[in-house]
Amino acid sequence: MESERVVDFQSLTRNVGRFDLRNKTFLIPQMSRIGVHLVAATFRSFGINAKVMDTCRGLDLGKEYTSGKECYPCQITTGDILYFLKKEKEKLGKDFSPGNYVFFMPETGGPCRFGMYNKYQRIILDSFPELKDVKIGSLTTRDGYSLAGIIEKEQVRDLRKAAYFSIVIADILDRLLWKIRPYEKEPGMTDDFIERSMHVMEDVFETYGTNKDFDKILDKLEEIINEGKTIIDPGIPPKPIIGIVGEIYVRTHVQANQDIIRVLERYGAEVINASVAEWMNYTTYDRFREARIGFRFSLKQIRLGLMREYLKKIISFKGDLLYQELRQKQAYKRIRSLIDLAEDHKVADLDNVLKEKDLFCFDVGTEACLSIAGIVEYAREGYNGVVNVYPFTCMPSTITSAIVKPLMNKLRIPYLDAPYDSGFQPGREAAIRTFMYQAHQHFKRNGISTGPWGSGARRGC
Ligand code: SF4
Repeated sequence: MESERVVDFQSLTRNVGRFDLRNKTFLIPQMSRIGVHLVAATFRSFGINAKVMDTCRGLDLGKEYTSGKECYPCQITTGDILYFLKKEKEKLGKDFSPGNYVFFMPETGGPCRFGMYNKYQRIILDSFPELKDVKIGSLTTRDGYSLAGIIEKEQVRDLRKAAYFSIVIADILDRLLWKIRPYEKEPGMTDDFIERSMHVMEDVFETYGTNKDFDKILDKLEEIINEGKTIIDPGIPPKPIIGIVGEIYVRTHVQANQDIIRVLERYGAEVINASVAEWMNYTTYDRFREARIGFRFSLKQIRLGLMREYLKKIISFKGDLLYQELRQKQAYKRIRSLIDLAEDHKVADLDNVLKEKDLFCFDVGTEACLSIAGIVEYAREGYNGVVNVYPFTCMPSTITSAIVKPLMNKLRIPYLDAPYDSGFQPGREAAIRTFMYQAHQHFKRNGISTGPWGSGARRGC
């Protein structure tokens, strides 16, 4: 493919946004592997031809068409889409029709760079004459990832509900993997089992997603969990618990984080990563919080029209949040009767933690809100160590590190910053090994159930 230097600024609005996905191929880049596969299956159940793209195969292309100053997830996803389209073009020849594809790249309204990925990727796609017609389908946190306009109006709410549920189930499967693998009877059993289970759940979501038959989906999940329990060797003693926070893409993308969870496990850890649903709940909670603030201001200024608008938003976002939390609770309640998996933190509680400790503020925004408060919660719950996983130079995660490192020192809880780009740091493994040595010491001193703030049992244990 030959690139030309072309910047058509109108294309940034014309070809980036929400598009009707019927009769298109919807290309989803990988993040959490299980998560994106279940979301794609849910979209397929609604008649959308959703496809998960291979990841990191086109990393060289990603690096070639970025300057090196972009965040690592931007490089990876740029490479993923260029590689996919290149291969598709080779495969289809003259039948290749760029207008048939919509590449999924959501955004946030800032303050960091995530709002710019899809604009930058638009400029790159536009620089290839043959790729100009590939659209970028973008959902935004500004309206809590509304799906309006991509499918028939009557189906929008159902699709949103089913897609959210698929994310919760994917989180549970991930947590099942991290729960079983450190205690498996034979190496490799858990990986095989989870890979199989992911495909089973894909079929289940394709069949039941469109009718939102969540009970049937949970029935299947129960079967999977019961099978997974048979892999655990009860003779292996409990291990130190390590909590992961950080930037959502890199901490959930196994290739991007160089499989850090497996490396931690190799040095004796049981790991719990922050979930993807937590981010979904956070974006809904934050829109609700902003609407409440807006309502209070308009009340002070006695602006009735604005008050009415904000009131509508409050009702809508609060309704969404309650629904999400209810679904998530139901799912965890059912599976926790079978196996002890950690539940998610409630976002309102995380907001309160930050206020109580005066560490940071939801008004600033970004994932730092979740990471800082999440670490405080891990500490309260008696985790034996915390790792902050993020792309090199990531703004919210650097803020997290600056605030949390002194706090962890004071609490004598092992803490590790793990920034990633496409390079391999020679000292990384030694840093993880040292961190795990400290975590083992913490485990010997404190066990697993009493946190430094002495608040009692760890979730899910
Ligand atoms: S969260 Fe970090 S990695 Fe993601 S866009 Fe913002 S600065 Fe970049």
